[in-house]
Amino acid sequence: MTRSPDARGNDFPLGSVWLVGAGPGDPELLTRKAERLIGDATVVFYDALVGPGILDMARRSARLVHVGKRSGRHSKDQATIDKLIVAAALEGEKVVRLKGGDPSIFGRATEELDACRAAGVAVRICPGVTAASAAAASLGASLTLRGLARKLTFVTAHARAGEALDLDFARLADPEATLAVYMGKAAAGPVSAQLMAHGLAADTPVALVESASLPDERVFLTRLDLLALSAKTALGDGPALLLIGEALRTTRERSSELGGHVVPDLIRDDVAGLTSR
Ligand code: SAH
Repeated sequence: MTRSPDARGNDFPLGSVWLVGAGPGDPELLTRKAERLIGDATVVFYDALVGPGILDMARRSARLVHVGKRSGRHSKDQATIDKLIVAAALEGEKVVRLKGGDPSIFGRATEELDACRAAGVAVRICPGVTAASAAAASLGASLTLRGLARKLTFVTAHARAGEALDLDFARLADPEATLAVYMGKAAAGPVSAQLMAHGLAADTPVALVESASLPDERVFLTRLDLLALSAKTALGDGPALLLIGEALRTTRERSSELGGHVVPDLIRDDVAGLTSR
């Protein structure tokens, strides 16, 4: 079994790999285990979404390798990343593969786990705080709500260039669920139009949280029929999460306290065209 610690109880022997969750950005949201592993690594392969301050925890002698991907601007493809990780481990390095949020959520972890296992390299996962949890914290809101939102769905709205969104909107349009849409900025228009077409109410509360837990965090509160406009006009370049569902309703009422921006309902009529795109 390649996954267990070595005989001395060392869980990070030479030649092994940890996929480490870096959390949403704020270094204080790292787990203590993640901090230890980062500090112990001889090489760290990190993503674009790993927050500032976290890499400072690596040893001075550690090699820091950026393998980040932001949508549309892939600096290294997944197969290359897999190979780099395995090669470093086979050279006897202690490898940390640092990923934004939690490695097991939209993090291409399977490819890296498989590549390591196929090469006989010991690999383990250190979980992290996922963006949806951080966004809920920013909002001071719960993602679930007794009796009203009994289900929480994590979905990615990332589509390959030129391809339509391949999501089962009939199932996603569930008034008793909270939907956390990752990589959903570009697809905000189709997501809102499709959810409404499948029966979700136009006034379903929506929160957009950009750069959750980071110094430039921004929160926007809106409703489903205004989602496309809000995403287009309000969001900047930071990573953003869309949260959709009744559980967010009271958040809108507490908007000023949150310092959030509420997209005015007055302009609703003007955006019918936008939301149907
Ligand atoms: N593994 C990560 C998700 C990777 S997918 C996790 O568990 O959080 C990348 C997407 O995550 C981004 O497009 C954005 O939708 C979301 N995201 C990551 N960090 C975020 C942050 N600090 N604030 C808001 N959304 C974030």
